[in-house]
Amino acid sequence: MKYVENCKQRHHDLMMARTTSSTTTSLCSKIHRAQEQHRTTLEKWGPLHSIDEEVNEGQSNWLKEGHLVIPPDEALRHEILQVLHDAPTAGHPSRDETFTQVSQSYWWLGMCTWVVDYVVGCAVCQQNKNITHRVSPASRVEDYK
Ligand SMILES: [Zn+2]
Repeated sequence: MKYVENCKQRHHDLMMARTTSSTTTSLCSKIHRAQEQHRTTLEKWGPLHSIDEEVNEGQSNWLKEGHLVIPPDEALRHEILQVLHDAPTAGHPSRDETFTQVSQSYWWLGMCTWVVDYVVGCAVCQQNKNITHRVSPASRVEDYK
């Protein structure tokens, strides 16, 4: 229980508000597991990217300026984006908005490009863009002429 509480404190309030506690808890433990699995990489990243390991009641957290460091684990990154972009509570925010959300809680090498690629490749966003285009005010003006 202590572990979960410590873990939750590492997440931004926004993240908490947007997810059910069970989602956050499982994502949270996945991040910790991944950090353990990629310990060697994180130790290498440490001095290069000012990443520090904080040990709190036996639980280690790899942090960069208060943001949880996400190791090179594609599945985990997808899961984070699903929570902050795809989830009904997230509602497919724009590229910039999605990046702002991700960067409030997490950090990884090349995160900006990764997030942009994810949103650009999102099928739902692509579809919404097309729909918006069809009913844009400019085209409506054309119709009435
Ligand atoms: Zn989307």
